[in-house]
Amino acid sequence: MTTADRDLSEEQRLMRQSCRDFVDDVVIPFIRRNWQREWTMTPEDRLPKEILEGAEKIGIRTLGVPEEFGGIELDPKSEVRTFAIISEEIARGDSGLADKLVQNWKVSVLLRNLAPRHLQEKWFKRLLENPQFLLAHCLTEPRGASDRWLPYNVPEAAMQTRAVKKDGGWVINGRKQFISNGYDASLYVVYANANPKVGMMQGTSSFLVPRDTPGFTVARCNETLGCRFMNNGELVFEDMFVPDDHLLVENDALGKAGVYFRPGKIIQASKNLGVGVRAFEDTSKYVQNYVQGGRILIKHQAVALRLADMATRIEAVRALLDRAAQAVDDNASDADVLCNMVKLFASEEIMKVAQHAVELHGGNGMMLDFGIEKLLRDAAIFLHMDATVDISKLKIIKAMFPQTAGKYAGPEA
Ligand SMILES: Cc1cc2nc3c(=O)[nH]c(=O)nc-3n(C[C@H](O)[C@H](O)[C@H](O)COP(=O)(O)OP(=O)(O)OC[C@H]3O[C@@H](n4cnc5c(N)ncnc54)[C@H](O)[C@@H]3O)c2cc1C
Repeated sequence: MTTADRDLSEEQRLMRQSCRDFVDDVVIPFIRRNWQREWTMTPEDRLPKEILEGAEKIGIRTLGVPEEFGGIELDPKSEVRTFAIISEEIARGDSGLADKLVQNWKVSVLLRNLAPRHLQEKWFKRLLENPQFLLAHCLTEPRGASDRWLPYNVPEAAMQTRAVKKDGGWVINGRKQFISNGYDASLYVVYANANPKVGMMQGTSSFLVPRDTPGFTVARCNETLGCRFMNNGELVFEDMFVPDDHLLVENDALGKAGVYFRPGKIIQASKNLGVGVRAFEDTSKYVQNYVQGGRILIKHQAVALRLADMATRIEAVRALLDRAAQAVDDNASDADVLCNMVKLFASEEIMKVAQHAVELHGGNGMMLDFGIEKLLRDAAIFLHMDATVDISKLKIIKAMFPQTAGKYAGPEA
């Protein structure tokens, strides 16, 4: 038993094993055989339907859905830790596939906490019925996401997507960008400014928007550096009418979104860890087989030192991750700070792990068909998703010194 196995429940151990088998038997061989698909296929064809069907068979597409609606009920005392274990395993196979699946879990948790019962009945049923059904969570706009993460709670930094009350519902106009699953999802949670006179913490509402809503357009699939098997999308809303019963939270949507953000940061760091674990596994195999200077690489001390550095960084991320996940599961008062710390720490540490992996593969590390450069590209994405490195640091320091640090500096004169 390793430290990664310590304190796992029987349920967590079994889930991790079935996920690991799926990744080793299906995901990794598929990605290795089809490495060109990242670049040559259309977004629709990049990841074949069978992969999501495989994820469905072992129950990892619909985590977060309550048992009464057909989901798997995880132990609530360790649900976030279970999310972490499973996300790490999937991302070990492919980070983009992990992105696709975890959006479903995160948005399901949000719906479970905030959606009225009749909407839960309707949408969880559809999610369960269709293995290709994906969910998306839409905050970021062309004019900023960082302002929302901090957040700068003044009218001039509020969202530009506007929701205006009309008889029987809301009319939404605006645009969202960089949205995970944005190109493929069937159902979207959309945040919009419902009161431009106040700051975003008081005037942002959230809505459930089915893909076929008139006035809603998926404008494009973004071609990204990494995580390319998740189709990131840009969305446009033009006089889009959403009925009253699709309002999730009125005015206080950002205040209530912690149920999404906290597990979200843990999941983010766990996927990131999975990329690092894979980089370590592949590199340790390589350096024990590849010969230069008359001996296998690991016998060259400079190579061995890099491997030790990779292993140490991975363990440090895992240790902080366990602590942060536990804090979220316990609803501890330091959960917010720890979530941001681990998301930040994982992104910087695993980037270094991936750099070592590429370096130790020499020229092979640069070759697309070898698959190592993909891990560096996938790792780079984590520096920017769910807040940039600098914004994560500001969030940590703001939480620690709320009266002084990170105050809004005011609009440009
Ligand atoms: C692959 C991927 C998936 C994503 N998925 C989603 C999703 O599902 N849903 C969603 O809503 N968003 C999503 N995003 C968006 C993501 O959250 C944002 O890209 C990220 O928060 C950065 O925001 P931005 O791109 O608007 O950068 P900006 O806010 O424009 O920042 C640009 C630069 O300025 C710095 N900066 C900005 N403001 C400040 C400040 N006040 N003080 C100091 N420095 C500052 C930033 O650190 C950064 O270096 C995704 C992004 C990526 C790359």
